[in-house]
Amino acid sequence: KDFRNNVKPNWCPGCGDFSVQAAIQRAAANSGVVPEELAVVSGIGCSGRISGYINSYGFHGIHGRSLPIAQGVKMANRELTVIASGGDGDGFAIGMGHTVHAIRRNIDITYIVMDNQIYGLTKGQTSPRSEMGFKTKSTPGGSIESSLNVMEMALTAGATFVAQSFSSDLKELTALIEKGIAHKGFSLINVFSPCVTFNKVNTYDWFKQNLTSLADVEDYDPHNRVTAMNTLMEHEGLVTGLIYQNENQPSYENLVQGFGEKSLSSQELPLKQEDFDKLTAEFM
Ligand code: SF4
Repeated sequence: KDFRNNVKPNWCPGCGDFSVQAAIQRAAANSGVVPEELAVVSGIGCSGRISGYINSYGFHGIHGRSLPIAQGVKMANRELTVIASGGDGDGFAIGMGHTVHAIRRNIDITYIVMDNQIYGLTKGQTSPRSEMGFKTKSTPGGSIESSLNVMEMALTAGATFVAQSFSSDLKELTALIEKGIAHKGFSLINVFSPCVTFNKVNTYDWFKQNLTSLADVEDYDPHNRVTAMNTLMEHEGLVTGLIYQNENQPSYENLVQGFGEKSLSSQELPLKQEDFDKLTAEFM
């Protein structure tokens, strides 16, 4: 059950992504998953390197495409615990179309976004999560676009599990990833994961001063979507904890007809080599 490997992360010292890596490793171990039952699929960006830093199946995909790959993995082998991960630029800019459709499809994947409100790998440009007025090399006069409230977006798209955490709260983050793994459907966990090198606004101290834990919101009910939306609007999205969960919607891979009892990966192929040869000959 040891999800550590001998690859040394090349993140900057202090990067929030270290805690996300540790939380995934702890949550997987606490969930009773073993390395050969876990697949971690990532996109492109500093955070995209995470799939190489965990002792499990790993797939470092292409920009914004961690979710299509992760969904293919889950459809082929339903026995695997599948985690997709990447940054806010990866998932909420180029990959946004995939994010919205994976949410509404409710396929059983845990998607962990390391949200640092900037593009770190390319040395600091405005992302869809940067606040209006945010100054970077790509917006020297300050961003003239508003920040995307991804938690509200996820609720609107029909998400069945929405959570948010802060990378310096390893205990809460680990517990939320465990809940996400246990959830039978798509779980989105957005993690404020500071980029200490390029984002000098949204720092660890900034988050400590601005985040509200849902544990401190009186009578908060994570099974009520209206309450969840109202609370997000009231706090401008800056809350941590389990925001919403609906355990009653079946997951996509269990609704697909014709797959049989066993995963595709452990079934005999119905076609023989000569059948493939015949099929391919038609296209030659
Ligand atoms: Fe982390 Fe930023 Fe360094 Fe990338 S550039 S490794 S996001 S601190």
